[in-house]
Amino acid sequence: MPQIGECALGLLSRVARANGMPLQRLLEYVAKSTGAAPYQCSTVLAAVSNVSYSWLVHRWIDCDSRNHRRFLGLDWSSSMVLRFRHLQVCPECLAEDGYVRASWAATANVFCVKHGTYLLDQCAHCGAGISWRRPAVSVCQCRWMLGRSTFEKNSVPQLEQWSTWVQMRLQPEFEHGNARSQSENLCFRELPHWIQNLSVDAAFHMLHALGVRELQFARVATADVLKPPAAAVVRQILSRGLTRAKTIEGFDAAGLRMLNGLLYEQGVERLASRSTNPADQAFSRTLLEQFNRVNRQVRNTGRKRAHHQEDLFMDAPLSNNA
Ligand SMILES: [Zn+2]
Ligand SMILES: [Zn+2]
Repeated sequence: MPQIGECALGLLSRVARANGMPLQRLLEYVAKSTGAAPYQCSTVLAAVSNVSYSWLVHRWIDCDSRNHRRFLGLDWSSSMVLRFRHLQVCPECLAEDGYVRASWAATANVFCVKHGTYLLDQCAHCGAGISWRRPAVSVCQCRWMLGRSTFEKNSVPQLEQWSTWVQMRLQPEFEHGNARSQSENLCFRELPHWIQNLSVDAAFHMLHALGVRELQFARVATADVLKPPAAAVVRQILSRGLTRAKTIEGFDAAGLRMLNGLLYEQGVERLASRSTNPADQAFSRTLLEQFNRVNRQVRNTGRKRAHHQEDLFMDAPLSNNA
């Protein structure tokens, strides 16, 4: 029986185990018999797990040839935002319910609101990353029961509110039936206003662009934005991003100037060019325009100063010779 809020691979993992085989073997077996790639959703997989094709495909991370992803009925514009292979789980949910929630696949989701604990992407016993190759959904490859992990309970209110918002956007029919009615009272006071008009994909990309650099002009390696960062790193990026988020409220010039060297512009550019959502595109383009307009002035003034310094430097050897 599929559970409400369960992800497709989680259900298939349970089906495989009920038939005495690991998930990988089930996928390979179906792939061999249908000619589809092992990680391709198919009508056969739906039939095997006794759900409709549309149920399965809705909860399946689907990637087209242009690297656009579709998951939970939403568009996702990069490989960094979804945890297809690098998973994270709430160990307490796993121990209680025994199934994998689809909302954990979003890199943006860092916190289980039900248990007040951060999601884990590593086994607390052997330290290995949590993958689909584990023997059962709640057991690590090393046979450690993931539910036996110890939990970090002191959370940051900002991250808690952010994760609540993300979960409500991803699975409104399931997560927080009660929190939904409370949401008007909550008002997500810790979250910037601008974020609430964006998709989860864009909101995460924006916070990432704001928070990925700890220090001004720090290098952001391309490899680091191609896959989801470790859960602990995501929490740091989001914390910085949420703290800096108020600097772009209303595209205020003073705020935008403060972001010079901190905003990861390429990330915003990528979102502007890859997103299929008009509101996300409009926001990221306006931010880039305003950011460049304000900081071009700063750079031009900076360049003039550099030019003078260069003149002085050029003069130095001459005066030495003289
Ligand atoms: Zn939980
Ligand atoms: Zn382990």
